[in-house]
Amino acid sequence: MEIAVLVIGDELLNGDQPDTNTAAVARLLGEHALSVREAACVRDKEAEIAAALNRLALSHQAVIVTGGLGPTADDLTARGAARALGVPLSLDPEALRQIRARFQLRGREMHPRDEKQALLPARAAVLPNPLGVAPGFQLRHPKGAELFFLPGVPFEMRAMLADSVLPKLLAMAAQRPEQARQRLTVFGLSEPEVEQRLVAAGVGAGVQIAYTVDFPLVRVRLSASGEAAQQRVDHAELLARRALDDFLVALGDDTLAGATARLLTAAGLSVALAESCTGGLIAKLLSDQPGASVFLERGAVTYANSAKTSWLGVPEALLAEHGAVSSACALAMARGVRAAAGTALGLGVTGVAGPDGGSEDKPVGTVFLALVSADGERVEGLRFHGDRAQVRLRSACTALDWLRRHAIAVLAAAP
Ligand code: ATP
Repeated sequence: MEIAVLVIGDELLNGDQPDTNTAAVARLLGEHALSVREAACVRDKEAEIAAALNRLALSHQAVIVTGGLGPTADDLTARGAARALGVPLSLDPEALRQIRARFQLRGREMHPRDEKQALLPARAAVLPNPLGVAPGFQLRHPKGAELFFLPGVPFEMRAMLADSVLPKLLAMAAQRPEQARQRLTVFGLSEPEVEQRLVAAGVGAGVQIAYTVDFPLVRVRLSASGEAAQQRVDHAELLARRALDDFLVALGDDTLAGATARLLTAAGLSVALAESCTGGLIAKLLSDQPGASVFLERGAVTYANSAKTSWLGVPEALLAEHGAVSSACALAMARGVRAAAGTALGLGVTGVAGPDGGSEDKPVGTVFLALVSADGERVEGLRFHGDRAQVRLRSACTALDWLRRHAIAVLAAAP
């Protein structure tokens, strides 16, 4: 189903207020396999609102409009809608009743101006606002599109979208051809590399593929509509799984951290972390996962050399010889935290996140990662590009990926 969002407000276009409503609508719809095909933003100008409504109604089955339903003179959405449809505005008794009831509930006097919020285009159906004053309304455009008008206040908008609009959209969608989609999250391959693998594997036959970079991850969306849409998406997913192999880190709403947490739990592995350049980001990503206490024993942020020595037992002589940004230090950090915690795994990370602190042999983006278990030790020097936040995030995601792969290997080796 083709759905558009139209957000209305001068403040959204002059930089005073970032538009969060479009994303909120897209998120809720996405959770119900509906998607926004176009989003537009216009000023509080009656003619511009009318023009945008007429344009969007031509090519969409539903248009969700937010903002401009309030009592002040600059709230012109109802007027714009009436103009678009060529119908008069009139005082809607049901809208007025709801506004009065809201004021009564709050024990407040209704200002005569508040009546303006009940001035709706003829034939509008009122959508109740359980959290605020201004009711919303629904109209059918002469071209057939359903138009839903909601207040701009984000929490009121979200509640009305979920209660009043979503059920109607789902009912409309149910009468349309079968839709199916799946999302895949990839780590360790660039966007072109992902595309190359999927195209070579013939994943695109019968489905649409869309790629997005959500740094440092690549997300792939497989979608289909019409006959046997679900079967076609399932088949494409199977081919994509093979083509992406162990670079595929998550399916659907799952995440790299979520998958890592689940695999560590399934493998019965406990982890201790010693972080320098990531400053606790790995611990944050892992402890975001419910039930993290099953596998996450501790995380030490050891930024200064003295912290690496006193908390992790990294020898001063090692730091003097190799420096804090070195494979020897990363390994000593991983060994030290594992020994202190008594966990199955110890992970150490140290590097130069930038923008300063780089040198010729260790430029900004140089990161050493070490993973130590009873069965062996892995340490690697990596070179990441990007700004400080990107180097830190990529380092943390690489660490999660190492833990994820280690857990997969342990599970595969289990009898
Ligand atoms: P009100 O009854 O408050 O007047 P309204 O429907 O007229 O509601 P607006 O006046 O357009 O809505 O906006 C109300 C509040 O919601 C303002 O603070 C505005 O900045 C905010 N808002 C409006 N649209 C958006 C949006 N798209 N994203 C985020 N905030 C928004």
